[in-house]
Amino acid sequence: MKTTKSVTSDKREQVPAENHITVKNAHEGIISHQQFDFVQKMIKNRKRNFTKFKKHLFTNVVYCNDCGSGMWYRQNRLGYICGNYARHGNIACTNHAISEKELEQVILNDIDWMYNKISDKKFLSDVKALEKKRVHSNQKELNLIDDEINSIKVKKRRYIEMLADNLISHGEYRDILSSKEAKVNELNEKRSELKASLLENQVTKEIETFRNLMEQFSPIEELSKELLHYMVERIVISKERTIKVTYRFSIFSNYLPV
Ligand SMILES: [Zn+2]
Repeated sequence: MKTTKSVTSDKREQVPAENHITVKNAHEGIISHQQFDFVQKMIKNRKRNFTKFKKHLFTNVVYCNDCGSGMWYRQNRLGYICGNYARHGNIACTNHAISEKELEQVILNDIDWMYNKISDKKFLSDVKALEKKRVHSNQKELNLIDDEINSIKVKKRRYIEMLADNLISHGEYRDILSSKEAKVNELNEKRSELKASLLENQVTKEIETFRNLMEQFSPIEELSKELLHYMVERIVISKERTIKVTYRFSIFSNYLPV
C-alpha cells in the first residue's frame, strides 16, 4: 500500500527501474541562474490556454546518446527514434527506439518522488548542508582568486622597475604585461561568477519554485508539454535504452533513485 502522498495519479503503472538512470544536472549541482530565471519567468507568464499537444511531447527534448542527434517521433513505433538513423540509416546510427509512454512514466515517477522529498525533513537538512558546503568552498576559491590578482599587481610593479633599470626591453615588457592582463581578465570573470553564486540561496529558491509548480499543476494526471518544459532540460537515450534525464532542479541531483 502506498503511504506517501502523491502528486500524480495513482492509476499509472510503475516503470521498471532497471532502464532508468536519472542523471541530474551536468553542472555539478549548480543550476545556472539563467535557467532558473527562465523557469520563474515561465511561471509568472503562465497562460492557462497553453496548447497541449501530446503527440510530439518530447520533440526537441529527447536526444540520441550515441550520435547527439535529436530523436524523432514515429507513429508506427509509438515513440522516438534517432533522427540521424531516420535520415541516413545504419551508416549514421543505430535503430533504437524509446516509447513515449515509458518516457512519460519515468518523468511522472520522478516528479512524484521529488514531491515527497520536498516535505522530507531529512532530505531538506541534507540539501541545506550540501549548499552550506558549496557556499563555503566558493568563498574559499574567491579568496584564492583575490590573492592571485593581488600578487599579479605586485609583479607588474616589479616589471616596471626592471624596465626602468633597463633589465628588460620594451618588447619583453609589453609581452609580459599582456599575458598578465589576460590572466587578470580570466580571474575577474571567474570572480564575478562566484560572487553571483554567493548572493542568493540557491536551495531555498529552487524549493520555492518547485512548490509553486506543484501547486499549479496538482493533481497531475498526465505529463503536459508545459510541465515537461518547466521540469526537464534534456533527456538522452542510449542504444541500450537507458534514459538520462537532466532536470532543471539541481537540489535533487544527488538523491534521485537510480
Ligand atoms: Zn543516434
